[in-house]
Amino acid sequence: MITVTIDGKSIQTEPTKTIIDAAFENGLYVPHFCWHPALSISGNCRMCLVEVEKMPKQVIACSTLCMDGMVVHINSEKAVEARAAVMEFILINHPLDCPICDEAGECKLQDYAYRFSVGESRFDEEKNHNMKRTALGPRVMFDAERCISCSRCIRFCEDVVGDPQLTFVQRGDRVTVATFPGKQLDSPYSMNVIDVCPVGALTNTDFRFKARAWDMSKTPSICTGCARGCNTNIWVRQNDILRLTPRENQDVNNFWMCDAGRLESWRDVNAGTRVKQPMLRRDGVHVPVTWDEALASVVSDLKGYAKQQIAVIGSPFDTCEDAWVLQRFAREILHTPYLDLLPHTLPGDEDAFLLRADKTPNTAGARLAGLAPQDAAHGLDGIIAALEQGIVKAVIVTDHRAAMHAEFFRALARAELVIAFVSNTSALTERADAVLASSTFAEKGGTMVNFQSHMQLLNPAVLTMERERWMGGFQPSRLDTFGTEFDRWGRIPRMDSRPTWKIATALARVLGAKWKFEHAEDVFDEMAQKIPALHAHSYDTLGRAGRRLEGPAPAHALPYVYSDVHPRSGQ
Ligand code: SF4
Ligand code: SF4
Repeated sequence: MITVTIDGKSIQTEPTKTIIDAAFENGLYVPHFCWHPALSISGNCRMCLVEVEKMPKQVIACSTLCMDGMVVHINSEKAVEARAAVMEFILINHPLDCPICDEAGECKLQDYAYRFSVGESRFDEEKNHNMKRTALGPRVMFDAERCISCSRCIRFCEDVVGDPQLTFVQRGDRVTVATFPGKQLDSPYSMNVIDVCPVGALTNTDFRFKARAWDMSKTPSICTGCARGCNTNIWVRQNDILRLTPRENQDVNNFWMCDAGRLESWRDVNAGTRVKQPMLRRDGVHVPVTWDEALASVVSDLKGYAKQQIAVIGSPFDTCEDAWVLQRFAREILHTPYLDLLPHTLPGDEDAFLLRADKTPNTAGARLAGLAPQDAAHGLDGIIAALEQGIVKAVIVTDHRAAMHAEFFRALARAELVIAFVSNTSALTERADAVLASSTFAEKGGTMVNFQSHMQLLNPAVLTMERERWMGGFQPSRLDTFGTEFDRWGRIPRMDSRPTWKIATALARVLGAKWKFEHAEDVFDEMAQKIPALHAHSYDTLGRAGRRLEGPAPAHALPYVYSDVHPRSGQ
């Protein structure tokens, strides 16, 4: 270990660390554009210039190694002056685009212009002009005028994806980013270049010009596009999800996410196919009813069947809390041995980086929570056989994608009673006698476990009556001209959907159970008492990064590869 002093703070560090590493590890901020903790060092922006005593000139903190006894000043007069000069230089050709730039509000250059620039330019000449809209690939648009040539996007492709699809062409003030002629930036991870770009040069073709950063709420959550469970932020305006961006978690996804998860995993939430309230089939058509009516009707229907005649099929898209309560409902209230969940996997759609062929976010968590058959005869295969033989006559299904499992769905046609807990309409809802509106991942709290046994928290980002309860009550802050109440982000409760655990709890209560769950955390606390791998955990210990569970990974082998249709888009 060596000792360096940075801005008066004595720091013990390794001689292999750069000044910027040592500073960040000790809570000191060094301004930077081209440096990124997960990328190789380029040293081209010069924004991290610092003063080092006994060195004749300022040095860049990103590529200067610490030495024993080194005394560094990040905020000395010379360092501040050098930084202002770098800002003036970078801004010479940067367009005054902030009012129309997607990056405004989350732009490093804009922020630094306020913090580290003198606020005036001595440059009177015409700025360089360049291409404003170049599609580098199907999902990324490039504005060459805004580029500050930091090379982060190029290094991301090379260092992280291992596919150098971008490069610099030209020289001097004409330098710009390009793909090889005739080629596109189209890797499955291409959109991460948008996140690493410190300015608005690279924009998301799906999100461009849809919203300003300050008009959206940002909720930490996880992607439900596959069994990786990449950490994300969900960006919502007026109760619609507008984009997902990756959130750092070194144990799960580092800083990144795939394009499919970013673009597809949340479409069901905004879709016009949402089931907004419970519905019962009457005279062949579904009619909206209150929750009390729906629960009473479902309970009355279920009472007409013996325990061996009912099957419960859960969803690996549901949370651990959903799975725990559902399996308790099946075992303790319905006393049925027929219990399983539906798998969703895409053959070959997996790589050595993030993507997993298992397109479910919580198969491991559902199994951990006990949503598993007691033996193979009562699992999915057994349920299909029992449906075909007329043994099972009533089925509860909590996955609107059930119709994608062709064999199961064919067998379901023989059931006398189908009760669907679903967030979106599908062929399953057409078949269902009772449709109970369930919440999507973006509307409820709870936990999920990824393929590495890493348990993580979901947070509700879209306002429903359920999120209201999670947040401690809906707090309207303004009214529109029609008197509709909005919260401070312009959201109104979208619908009265409920998480699966809450629907199952309500049904159990109508059937006489004294279950006291009011909040997802109540369910988790019970799981933590009963499941050894969760004994040491609570929502507090999971925090924002989640925790790796100890012990062997819950079995979540996927015996069925049944479709090449993406479970999300259905295409
Ligand atoms: S496009 Fe963005 S990330 Fe790429 S070199 Fe330019 S400023 Fe840097
Ligand atoms: S790798 Fe999986 S979890 Fe991560 S962003 Fe893609 S789909 Fe989502």
